[in-house]
Amino acid sequence: MNKPVKQHLIDPEICIRCYTCEMTCPINAITHDDNNVVVNADICNFCMDCIPVCPTGSIDEWRVVQTPYTLEQQFEFEELPEQEDIEAAPASGDEEAVDPIAALLAEAHKGAGGKAKAPLSAGKPTVNMYTLGKPARMKVQGNYPLTRDPDHDVRHIILDPGALPFPVLEGQSVGIIPPGTDAEGKPHLPRLYSISSPRDGERAGYHNISLTVKREDKGLASNYLCDLEQGAEVEVTGPFGATFLMPSTAESHLLLICTGTGSAPMRAFTMQRQRSGATGGMTMFFGARTPDSLPYFGPLKKVPETLLKQHLVFSRQPDQDKEYVQDRILAEQDRVAELLEDGRTHIYICGLRGMEEGVELALTSIAESLGQQWTALRDAMREDGRYHVETY
Ligand SMILES: Cc1cc2nc3c(=O)[nH]c(=O)nc-3n(C[C@H](O)[C@H](O)[C@H](O)COP(=O)(O)OP(=O)(O)OC[C@H]3O[C@@H](n4cnc5c(N)ncnc54)[C@H](O)[C@@H]3O)c2cc1C
Repeated sequence: MNKPVKQHLIDPEICIRCYTCEMTCPINAITHDDNNVVVNADICNFCMDCIPVCPTGSIDEWRVVQTPYTLEQQFEFEELPEQEDIEAAPASGDEEAVDPIAALLAEAHKGAGGKAKAPLSAGKPTVNMYTLGKPARMKVQGNYPLTRDPDHDVRHIILDPGALPFPVLEGQSVGIIPPGTDAEGKPHLPRLYSISSPRDGERAGYHNISLTVKREDKGLASNYLCDLEQGAEVEVTGPFGATFLMPSTAESHLLLICTGTGSAPMRAFTMQRQRSGATGGMTMFFGARTPDSLPYFGPLKKVPETLLKQHLVFSRQPDQDKEYVQDRILAEQDRVAELLEDGRTHIYICGLRGMEEGVELALTSIAESLGQQWTALRDAMREDGRYHVETY
């Protein structure tokens, strides 16, 4: 099997055939026939010179493909082909996922109990646009503490890609390349971080992205990120992830279950639902040790219940019994059962791997109260693109 490659394409349904891109390309990678303007995958070096000059945005299309579309195939396009789901596919070899990012994502999504699927109505994700060899350089616009617990430093970091196109959907991740080299003199491998801002930017229309990063003791990338100063430059790969995405249907209900930095994609979902005026509502079970160690504790207080019904659950509050997300899910059994029975419910679980077992047990018990077997219900939801797990 070939190694997946990124291919630059032009959307024939939007392109107005002005040929500005063809005239701008410094290496003659763009050509046309009577039908379409197309990019030659053998020549294109992703210099991006053609992107800002396109008046329609039809030039900004990318697919990760096992075999690039030929010029002849592209001349025949009436519409762009869908992105194949090769997120967790082996980069080469039939048995093993050897692409480290694909392997990390496949491992993170394992808790769904089978091959993850995107919601049917999800937007079309762009993946693997920037790589270790050709990362995007982004400027740090801000780095703000999200917690007050000194043993649990979590930061909200805003990155600006400037003029570079960096199309994202909520639920996707980026890779951060820590500077320097490893013991063998090779560049460090990127670490994955969920994007915590919505598709049109941390600030609407600005197309900047934010991350939610927890400082790990002696961790290379997390300490590098948490210590970044405004104006610093960061090398970013991605975006990554083609399945942990939100539905576009306004009436869907999102059941969000998270701990710690697992709140990052949930923040992106919440902001996007707020911006898009979705009506279906969201219910969140969010676990932390204390309010001081729960990222976004302050901002969450301002989110209206009609948009997001919140269950903030604490396991180390002085003078209170320990409570974990699964305990609150069970305490809210009737409402969760209603949601499990509703075909408009999409479940997202994100955070530390350790949270999965308790949540599974709680959902098993609630499914049983409905006379259903949880694994069968879960598998049906997953096949329907309505059950998503991302744990690390
Ligand atoms: C899909 C996905 C999404 C993710 N999203 C997020 C997110 O949104 N936010 C987030 O914060 N993280 C996220 N992560 C985790 C993140 O990718 C990193 O794994 C994490 O930040 C640790 O990376 P690091 O480079 O700091 O640690 P590394 O340097 O890779 O070290 C790994 C671990 O080993 C320990 N360690 C390293 N060196 C030593 C040493 N000398 N002695 C003792 N211990 C040591 C560190 O404490 C750390 O826990 C995600 C992971 C995945 C797979």
